[in-house]
This record gives sequence, C-alpha cells and structure tokens, in this order.
Amino acid sequence: MKRRGLVLFSGGLDSILASKVLEAQGIEVICIKFITPFFGQRALKDPEREKARVKEKYGLTLELIDISQEFIEMLHDPSHGYGKYLNPCLDCKILMVRKAVSLLEDFGASFVATGEVIGQRPMSQRRDAMRIVERDACADGLLLRPLCAKHMRPTKAEIEGIVDRSRLLGISGRGRKEQMRLAETFGIKDYPTPAGGCLLADPILSGRFKEIMDRYRDPDTNDFLLAQTGRHFFLEDGSWLVVGRNQGENRQIEALSRKDDIIIKAKNAPGPTALWRNYKDKASKEEVLAIFRRYVKKAPEDLCIVMNVLSAEAREDDSNLGHEQ
Ligand code: SF4
Repeated sequence: MKRRGLVLFSGGLDSILASKVLEAQGIEVICIKFITPFFGQRALKDPEREKARVKEKYGLTLELIDISQEFIEMLHDPSHGYGKYLNPCLDCKILMVRKAVSLLEDFGASFVATGEVIGQRPMSQRRDAMRIVERDACADGLLLRPLCAKHMRPTKAEIEGIVDRSRLLGISGRGRKEQMRLAETFGIKDYPTPAGGCLLADPILSGRFKEIMDRYRDPDTNDFLLAQTGRHFFLEDGSWLVVGRNQGENRQIEALSRKDDIIIKAKNAPGPTALWRNYKDKASKEEVLAIFRRYVKKAPEDLCIVMNVLSAEAREDDSNLGHEQ
C-alpha cells in the first residue's frame, strides 16, 4: 500500500498546512507546483534553488511542472467562465487536479490533496464547486482536502486506510484563525499572504492579456510574459510595441525577443529598449518611431534610432525597415 500523496502546492499557507497534516501521520508527501505564464514564473527561474528553499523552510519536497500550453488553451474558453477578471478559477483547479491525477502513477502515489477549505473562496471553494472540480477532473474518490476533510465524503485513500480520517481536520469558512493556530503547532512562522500571485486576477494585467488574446490568434507563453513588462502600445495595423521603463525591463524585453521581432534602441542618447512585434510592413514605422522618441530623455537634434531584427532570416529584411537618423 503506497502511503504517498501529491499535494497541489501554491506556496500559500493552506497548501503548506495540508502537506504537514499528511506528513504528521507518516504519509510521504510530494508537493507539486504547477507553472504557467501567470503564476509560478519566479520559481522557474531557478528551480533547484526554489526546491531547496521549500525544503529548508518547510521540510517539504517540491516538484515544478510547467503546464503553460494546456493552461493557455483552456484560458481561451474556460467551460465554467471567468471570475472578476480573467481568472478561470474553476477550470484552473480542474486542469491542475486532472494533471496531478495523471501523474499519480509516475510518482508512485495513491491520491491527490489540496489545501482547500470549504467556504473560504466564493468561486472555487463552495461545496458544489469543489464537487464539480472532482467530477470534471475525473478525480472521483482521489481528491483529498486534509484541512476540511471532515466536511467531505471519505475518499478512497481514507476508506482503504492509507490516510487516517480521524487525524484530518474540519476547518470551514473565511476565517484564518484555525490555520494560524495550526501553523504555530507546526512551527511555521513565515509564510506568504493568501491569494497572492495570480496575474489573471490583476485588474491591469488581465486587461492586457485579454487584449492580446483578442488581437492575436495563438498567443503563447512568450507573448504573455512580454505583456508583463514595459509600456504597451497596440497599433491599428495589428502590431504591438513594448517600451522598457528601466534597465531591468530593457533587459527583459531583449531576452524575450524572438524571430521577426524588431528591437529598437537610441544609438547616441540614453533611452529605452523597445520591441515591435507582429508588424506586417513598414506602414506603422513612423508611428512606432514617434512613440519611441517620446521616451528618449534629452534626445539630441540628430537622434539616431536603430531598428534591428534578430534572426538571420529576418535580418535580410532589415534594409526594408531601415535605420532612422
Ligand atoms: S486565482 Fe489564478 S491560480 Fe488561483 S485558481 Fe484562480 S486562476 Fe487559478
């Protein structure tokens, strides 16, 4: 009998506690952190460091799994709709639980657990919504919520004795007192605030993501990451100009540039790095240069702006777009 479970790990207190509650009864826990362009990106920058951090801080084993592609596909048309912004919370949970169930065999685990608490979130942690997640993720009997298990039907792991139901909890509602008390008993002092970190619930960024989805046929991870940095201009010809606001953003913009993008810089004055994407021809070139010029501080009379395409293939077209003196 495998006494091993996969816990969906957001990094917030509830998923830490769910893991600790299971560990306390001798179950081996593997924390799964799913990554998309909208959450978890920081962990992806240095996965080994993130794993070491979680191990050191909470004594937990972490695995990072990138589900960006499936997530973006779902985001176009989530069957249960969006929350207040572009957050498809129910479909997001369904996708993550379904994915975790599909990983059970690979990890030699018997069940999937989450840090959900019944009644805590209006959209995704109502009893009916929690039931929908189980049903649509094909996780019947496989999805355990250790923090509120006493309010739920026993799962297969409990029925088969892999998990001791009597040592699970019956927390409910929006209050955080119980969780804070529990954190204290596990000696967890330093933990992130709840519900932070999902950019789909950000009022400004979600609007930008939506614009990108409406304008471009198949936006990918790179498009959504680019949308998170700099100033953005969506031009009438369908092209997209991104202008860095500081050195960090300039570097990020350059790092995200890809085949056929045009990188714009001022040659003889300090100024931003800009990226022009999805241009069709040079029709908007003057408009793009005018926008760019606005952000070059103390531009000299003879400001020289360089437009560079990065790929060898696109470089051949460079002459068409030319350099601006
Ligand atoms: S807030 Fe974001 S990460 Fe959280 S459930 Fe909703 S869509 Fe998923």
